[in-house]
Formats: sequence, C-alpha cells, structure tokens
Amino acid sequence: MTGIVLLGPPGAGKGTQAIRLAQELILPHISTGEILRQNVKDLTSLGEEAEDYMNRGLLVPDALVAKMLTERFDRPDVKKGFILDGYPRNISQAKTLDDILSSKKLDISTVFYLDTSDEVIIQRLSGRLVCKVCGLNFHIKNIPPKNKGMCDSCGGKLYQRKDDSEGTVKKRLEVYKKEAAALIEFYEAKQKLHRLSADGNSEDVLKQIVEVAQKCDDTLKI
Ligand code: AMP
Repeated sequence: MTGIVLLGPPGAGKGTQAIRLAQELILPHISTGEILRQNVKDLTSLGEEAEDYMNRGLLVPDALVAKMLTERFDRPDVKKGFILDGYPRNISQAKTLDDILSSKKLDISTVFYLDTSDEVIIQRLSGRLVCKVCGLNFHIKNIPPKNKGMCDSCGGKLYQRKDDSEGTVKKRLEVYKKEAAALIEFYEAKQKLHRLSADGNSEDVLKQIVEVAQKCDDTLKI
C-alpha cells in the first residue's frame, strides 16, 4: 500500500496536488478540510462544532478531527493506500495518525513538504475559487475556469471560501507556522520527508511529486 501525506502552509497547493495525485496513482484522496466543510454544509453536529473555528482560521479541536479521521480510515478503499491532505497539523495529530494507521495495519510511505513563500500564499488564496461539487480549485488569474463561475471538470458552481479573506489567511498562516517546524522535524527523523518548492507551476510540482513517490515505492501504478 502507498500512504502519501502532503504538508505545507495553506495556499501551498496541497488540495490541487492531492486531487491530481489521487487521479494519477488511483488512490483515495482524504482531505480533513473537505470533510469538515461537507459536515458544515450538511449541518451535522460535527459541522456545527467545527464551523466557528474554521471561520476564525483556527484549528478544530484535535479530538473531533481524530474521530472523523478514524471513521474515514474504517472505509475499505484505504487498503491500497491514500493521499492525505490537511492532516496532521501538529505533533499531537502526527502521533494520532501513527496510532490510527498502525491499528489498521497501514503506514505512511512518503511525506511531501510543499515549501511556499508568504507572497505566493496571499496571492493564491485571495484569488482562489473552489468547486462546490467536486472540490477542484481554480484561481481568478492563475487558473481561470473556461466559463465564469463554473467548474471545468463537473460544471459545479465555484465559490470563494469564507476563510480565504485576507485577515483569516494571515491568522491561518500564523497558526500553521507555529506547528510546522516540529512537524517537519518529526518526519525528518523518520526519514520520510521530501521537501520541494511549490512556488512554481502546479504541473511541475506534480511531476516532481510523482517522480519521488515512484522512486520511494515501486508498487505504484502509474
Ligand atoms: P484546509 O482546507 O486544510 O485549509 O482546512 C480548512 C480549515 O479546516 C482549517 O483552517 C481548520 O479550521 C480546519 N481543519 C482542517 N484540517 C484540520 C486539522 N487537521 N486539524 C484541525 N483543524 C483542521
């Protein structure tokens, strides 16, 4: 099985890369942010508890996210592997992830750290558009949809995330940076971390990720 984790600041392109990588490698994409947004949309009790944290750019309490992730890893599609995006966000979550995976006899093959500068992050997030139906990301300038307001892939309506406003983006970056160094060290010590610059074109970044993933794991079906 192939377990890939994508780390990086908000705006590094984790979501975009994870969706493309999941298609290339034929593996399920697990995004904690997407699962939480779906819960908010569906007005579940988890969504109600999480919404305020999300709107303020803060992390949803670890216990809530851990429960949600454990349920996701109960589904049989993860047996062949997974692309995890948005988790872990701190050391406590990294340890929880190890516990969840070992209880299911799964493992992490590679962790990618998508290094991104603050200017690029702010520029990307302030123009980001997300498909309401399939979650695909676009950008007003960098990746404009073919038809205004409509997803190229499924025709779904595009919207701007509430937490992509400038003030909230700054808060999210601050929260991210506080925990990132420890997380990087954690996976470096396990010799699983690969850093790459994600400031450039998303196609080039994807190519680099696929190359490294293949080198680290010869069971990959491409
Ligand atoms: P994302 O789509 O990954 O940028 O996540 C959007 C928001 O969902 C974050 O700002 C957090 O409020 C929440 N969230 C997503 N993943 C996690 C996580 N692993 N732990 C806590 N909160 C999370």
